[in-house]
Amino acid sequence: MKTIIFDLFDTLLDKVWFDYNKGLTYLADTYFDNKREKLKLFADEYRERFMLKRNETQIETSFIKQLEFYERKFEKALSKPYDEIEWEFFSVCREETVAVGAIDLLDYLHERGYTLAVLSNSIFSSATLKRYLDKFGLLHYFGKVVSSADITYRKPSSQAFEAVLQAIGASPSPEIYFIGNKIDKDAMGALSAGLSPILISKEPIVAPCVILPNLTAVKECLERSYLYVNNIADRESLVDGPGLRTVVFFQGCKKACKDCHNPMTWSLSTGTRYSVNELAEILKAKAKNKKITFSGGEPLLQSKAIIELAKQIKGYDLCMYTGMNEEDVPTELKDMLHYLKVGYFQRENLTTVKPYVGSTNQSFIDLRRTYETIDKR
Ligand code: SF4
Repeated sequence: MKTIIFDLFDTLLDKVWFDYNKGLTYLADTYFDNKREKLKLFADEYRERFMLKRNETQIETSFIKQLEFYERKFEKALSKPYDEIEWEFFSVCREETVAVGAIDLLDYLHERGYTLAVLSNSIFSSATLKRYLDKFGLLHYFGKVVSSADITYRKPSSQAFEAVLQAIGASPSPEIYFIGNKIDKDAMGALSAGLSPILISKEPIVAPCVILPNLTAVKECLERSYLYVNNIADRESLVDGPGLRTVVFFQGCKKACKDCHNPMTWSLSTGTRYSVNELAEILKAKAKNKKITFSGGEPLLQSKAIIELAKQIKGYDLCMYTGMNEEDVPTELKDMLHYLKVGYFQRENLTTVKPYVGSTNQSFIDLRRTYETIDKR
């Protein structure tokens, strides 16, 4: 299940500064006849009566309710719709930046076809949070943005997690990750809700989940952990390297060669996601003669996880078909391969006699120089 839910503040966005009083000053000056002191007193009263209990009760109190409270106290109706005033208030009391690695991670997940959502503890509505995400160019990544202000419940309550799962049409599953920065609200809440938390923390801490220093590390971790596969051939092949070989066709290729015989492997967003462990076990069970070929698609688009896979099937006779060049193959991976087919398929150079390649510009290389009849570079 390719689904990831993110916390928003201090996870996807990093705080530069936050000043709630600046918002109150703006509110007093713009809507309550410059009565700053009076509004601050009402704000203190509101905080005492409603906001301080939020972490205890896990029940959110929205900014809109706060506006209604001020209207009652001042006995004055606000001159603009609540959502407009909320956005103005929200905008004047904070500055944030996109967290390091966020765009790279979101691009990667988006390209791979993940369903992405946001679940935030906030007094501000999801409409305001969406507007804010849009300001940073992030909104289009997310199918749903859920704020505790709209659903009433705050993390770590199970109702908050249920609400976001319901919004994206998913059921609790350890295959769904929740990425956040707070151990109690994010990590423990997600765990109790049946999800797999990833905690972002620069400090060394202990928590019953994966802990990573930033979103760049999350991407690295996912790239090393999962493989996207178009199919594993039912029957062994005699044409994908020497011997009878089990062939894995990896999903995703950006080359779009004319007359490619495998265009169904081009899309990056489809295919079956396997953990490295899962795929290693499947291949161990299937390739009784221990001869396996990695084909595609373009396996090198998933080189980090393929390196991990190759480590788990150490000792197997491994062959890889790539459209790229020999120097594009990471040394760590090359050291674990026996055979390597390099070069893009060129229809005009089609060959039916050169072994194990489709066109004469391609080379089939015996990296250990053990197979006598093939291309020696
Ligand atoms: S590199 Fe291979 S999979 Fe990709 S388009 Fe070319 S022939 Fe097809």
